[in-house]
Amino acid sequence: MTLPPSPLRLRLDAQALQSNWRWLRQQGGTAACGAAIKAGGYGTDAAGVLGRLAKAGCRDFFVATWAEALALFPLGDGITLSVLHGVREEDMSVARQAGVRPVLNSPAQVRRWKESGGGPCDVMVDTGINRLGLDMEDAVSGLLDELPIVTLMSHLSCADEEHPLNALQLERFSDLRGQIAADRYSLANSAGVCLGHKYAFNLTRPGIALYGGIPRAEARGHIRQFAFPEVQILQRKTIRAGEGVGYNATCVASRDLEAAILNVGYADGYLRAFSNRGHVLAPDGVALPVIGRVSMDLLIVDASAAPALAEGDWLGLDYRLEEASAVSKLSQYELLTGLGPRFARFWA
Ligand SMILES: *Cc1c(COP(=O)(O)O)cnc(C)c1O
Repeated sequence: MTLPPSPLRLRLDAQALQSNWRWLRQQGGTAACGAAIKAGGYGTDAAGVLGRLAKAGCRDFFVATWAEALALFPLGDGITLSVLHGVREEDMSVARQAGVRPVLNSPAQVRRWKESGGGPCDVMVDTGINRLGLDMEDAVSGLLDELPIVTLMSHLSCADEEHPLNALQLERFSDLRGQIAADRYSLANSAGVCLGHKYAFNLTRPGIALYGGIPRAEARGHIRQFAFPEVQILQRKTIRAGEGVGYNATCVASRDLEAAILNVGYADGYLRAFSNRGHVLAPDGVALPVIGRVSMDLLIVDASAAPALAEGDWLGLDYRLEEASAVSKLSQYELLTGLGPRFARFWA
């Protein structure tokens, strides 16, 4: 049996993606611009993102795990992939065969890679985030000698705000560059790219801004929305003044209103934080407020302002990431990575 088309879909705008990447590349001056495509391209479509960014000229891609890497095979000519979480013992046989670089993060990972024959790899050094990566002392202890490091990298912890750690991490990373030989050096994520050329080194690694996230004010007006969730109306109905709406009647209709019941809910990643706060957009751009609680699979909106809408029509969730983040208090990252498998991804 062939499946009927999904009642919810995620439209991905290839031109917005490529335009976001070009802007980010420009901000990095002469540095190459890579792309973080972990977590399925931040919940969108990792393979589709890779293909379209490769067309735009992107060569360096980053995933978290080996499973994510293998799902992208075969890679096109000249495309390189790095696996950010490095190599556990149980990754080694795949890691040795795949032709994909591990990002080595701990002394044990470095030894494991060296003992299995070494070869081209990336290395992550922790310059202050205190998350994954070699301590600076370990990094300059001789541990990395003889290792053919393609990209030596570190990761900024506070680049999305004004914080003394930005300059401190920059200084520490610049120091490391003088002491550890590598083909290339890389520090900046999306927010780091916005901090200017001196954070870019040879390669930047944006993620969220490719996907339409605004990491810092500098990106506003340059970064375009990329992912557009669209959902179908299952039912139209009138809700009478004084009636409760949805679970626990958290909204009570103050007048008779024309509601639309939509095929999306928190199981799809449209979380309850949008209850009585989110908006959806009618085809003519009119914003319709979410009323009542978001359910697991359903959403109720006040469609009084769009009387022509009918069952089967499509509406867009207002998913401009900066705005939706302010409304929901979810991070722009969570908004994207939570989008579930029931959204049919398509490119336009
Ligand atoms: C996820 C990630 C990035 C991209 O970060 P954004 O904030 O999404 O731009 C870059 N580098 C590393 C090591 C990462 O884990």
